[in-house]
Amino acid sequence: MITDTHTHLYSEQFDEDRDIMMQRAFDAGISRFFIPAIDASYTERMFHLETAYPKNIFLMMGLHPTSVKENYKEELAHVKKWIDQRHFYAIGEIGIDLYWDNTFLAQQQEAFRTQIQWAKEKKLPIVIHCRDAFDEIFEVLEAEKSDDLRGIFHCFTGTLKQAKKAISYHMKLGIGGVATFKNGKIDQFLNQIALKHIVLETDSPYLAPTPYRGKRNESAYITQVIDKLVAIYGLPFQEITEITTQNSKEIFGV
Ligand SMILES: [Zn+2]
Repeated sequence: MITDTHTHLYSEQFDEDRDIMMQRAFDAGISRFFIPAIDASYTERMFHLETAYPKNIFLMMGLHPTSVKENYKEELAHVKKWIDQRHFYAIGEIGIDLYWDNTFLAQQQEAFRTQIQWAKEKKLPIVIHCRDAFDEIFEVLEAEKSDDLRGIFHCFTGTLKQAKKAISYHMKLGIGGVATFKNGKIDQFLNQIALKHIVLETDSPYLAPTPYRGKRNESAYITQVIDKLVAIYGLPFQEITEITTQNSKEIFGV
């Protein structure tokens, strides 16, 4: 049983062939798909996906940092309304992204902190998006850390030191296509991080692993990531999938 802890299967990029793409994932042994939110414009699509595959789809709710704009208060109210109304498996994806634009840094920090506080109230894990913002993310985590707070550093791309720091805040590292890239860097030190701290993800339709790099990504390609971990850890494929699925259960409670 393979778990994709981060996949945007509701993306428009799958509208033409979603069911066929899902079947490829099932055929490859992936049966659990955790679905991060972006902003209110995708909520309906996420619910449709859940209705289509109720046994396999696990929804998160949250406001993505690149969607923190002038209307962020309205967007946060949308998140709050939904988490008060029904169950989600995590608050995500949330965080700080300074790669594209730092105009809304203060608002991103506020939105990140507010959503962590909601996660703590609801006893839900968080799924963090961090791009060019490790210092800023750690600053918020340091202020909000607690024994209850746990989660995933999605698409982890930091250094060994940053990996250890993330783990110290009860975060698992989300490992996906980047681990297969020639210049992805994390494959250099991953063997120094115990497998119990790792979960698998694709971030589909983005960040396709080698040899699909640059193409549309899909959950079935997670096997390329597992192959890479087989090489890094020197463990059988089956063991990597079992341990990482167990890690995902620890985080999401399911
Ligand atoms: Zn994502």
